[in-house]
Amino acid sequence: MEYDAIIIGAGAAGLTAAVKLSSLGKKILLLEKQPVPGGFATTFNRKGFIFESAWHCVDGLQEGGELRNFLEEYGIIQKINFIELKDFSRIIYPEHDFTAGFNRDSFVKYLKKSFPQESRGIERLFGAFDRFYRQLDRYSYSKIPVSLKIALAPILYPEIIRASFITAEQFIGKFITDAKLKGILTDIWSFIGLAPGRLSAFYYLIVFRGYYYLPTSYVKGSSRELFKAMAEKIRENGSEIKFNTPAVRIITDDGKAVKAVVTDKEEIFKAKVVISNANPIDTLENLIDSPVTRGRYHKNLAGLEKSISACQVYLGLKKPAKDLGMDHFMFSVNTSYSHEEDLESCLSADYDNCSFSLVDHAQVEPALVPDGKGSLIIMAIDSYTNWEKLSPQEYKLKKQVVAKRLIQRAEKYLPGLAEAIEAMEIATPKTMERYGSAPGGAIYGFAQTPEQSTFRRFPLKTEVRGLFLTGAWTQPGAGVHACFISGMDAAKSALNSLRR
Ligand SMILES: Cc1cc2nc3c(=O)[nH]c(=O)nc-3n(C[C@H](O)[C@H](O)[C@H](O)COP(=O)(O)OP(=O)(O)OC[C@H]3O[C@@H](n4cnc5c(N)ncnc54)[C@H](O)[C@@H]3O)c2cc1C
Repeated sequence: MEYDAIIIGAGAAGLTAAVKLSSLGKKILLLEKQPVPGGFATTFNRKGFIFESAWHCVDGLQEGGELRNFLEEYGIIQKINFIELKDFSRIIYPEHDFTAGFNRDSFVKYLKKSFPQESRGIERLFGAFDRFYRQLDRYSYSKIPVSLKIALAPILYPEIIRASFITAEQFIGKFITDAKLKGILTDIWSFIGLAPGRLSAFYYLIVFRGYYYLPTSYVKGSSRELFKAMAEKIRENGSEIKFNTPAVRIITDDGKAVKAVVTDKEEIFKAKVVISNANPIDTLENLIDSPVTRGRYHKNLAGLEKSISACQVYLGLKKPAKDLGMDHFMFSVNTSYSHEEDLESCLSADYDNCSFSLVDHAQVEPALVPDGKGSLIIMAIDSYTNWEKLSPQEYKLKKQVVAKRLIQRAEKYLPGLAEAIEAMEIATPKTMERYGSAPGGAIYGFAQTPEQSTFRRFPLKTEVRGLFLTGAWTQPGAGVHACFISGMDAAKSALNSLRR
């Protein structure tokens, strides 16, 4: 049987593309190598505790938000419930300790009170943020054809153009001089994975909005519920999903156009279009059957920088983390205001000084843990090279040493944490590589430098007719909200291709 489209990978972007195409009457086959949907954003169970493997929270779900619009348009919203996070994060620096709560004005107020000498600069900086977001909304919701929007961009959207060519440090540095204030303003660096001196201002502004301007949510029952509902929708639309089914080859007409996908069981499924949610390195260097195309892409891809990785310690607790002092959904703990210095600690395995976050999902969704118990995730940015050359014994030992050190450091804020542990699991950059199918354990796809961001990010379209990419590695980038946009855009390109 021939499908309209085969989608490889049921991560956030692959599922989004599949929902859209199947809802529009296209016959889809979705192949996923894992037993469940969600990709990185999945959950797992240890001793009765349900842990989010990656996802902490998601934005874009407010009335009129892109994600909400999508879920409403395709009849998924009624299958799930969201928990809006309030005053969600405690941000800790050597001399500052405050709450961030998706509220631009209260954040500005706190910053002006803490840095009165920078009041004018703070006003002007947030004015620049506001202008950027207004232009971004005008760009996103305008009905002008994309080619015309791009041609007119320097006149209609100058802030977007400017932010596309500079770093977060350059954007902020135009208004702010105090190094500590700059550090606080770029606290979200770890959710993108690059220190401000190399981080694209555009992507920084996108993520900043999700944390300081718009409400952010968690899914009732866990992220699994969202992706389960999307998979259900795809099947209701008459399309098929095969779990535990890796795609091993994309058959093409000599690299010119896609023809079929082969699975690990040597089944061959034909399709006019293939959308790959697997990373571009696997898709274009390993899966595609044309050696010429593979060679050409190899050269291109080898020159691109991958994002950093992370380690995570998942703790099942005998009591709620709140009882130990976890009075917010999340803590961001920093020993330095310089994120360049901080990133250096993370990359050089300095677990005594690296920044880390604590996340307490059970605080907003107690159903994740057995009655009366709690859970906590400690996340620290890390490098694959810190883990790659270890023997199995060394690896096992290092996991324990790193977890112990991070738990000790978390105890400063949550005394009695070590005593309260009932279950523990540790993920390293090697785990990210294995379960996230991410080369080098890169948790955010290609690094979001200005050279690899916005219109210069790895494209959804490939040289092979009918083959499209989607997900964190490609446009616009990592994060669940961004991956939904990527999935919608890939589906749109696929529809155009099917019309031809
Ligand atoms: C530790 C961590 C914390 C994070 N926190 C947040 C957060 O709080 N908020 C947020 O918005 N984002 C967060 N993110 C980012 C977010 O989770 C990811 O950007 C997003 O989930 C990636 O989605 P994706 O569509 O790129 O697909 P992926 O998650 O990469 O999934 C790709 C899928 O393709 C499958 N696949 C790969 N190859 C094949 C093949 N050959 N055949 C079949 N299937 C294949 C994989 O098994 C996988 O299921 C976090 C990420 C990490 C790692």
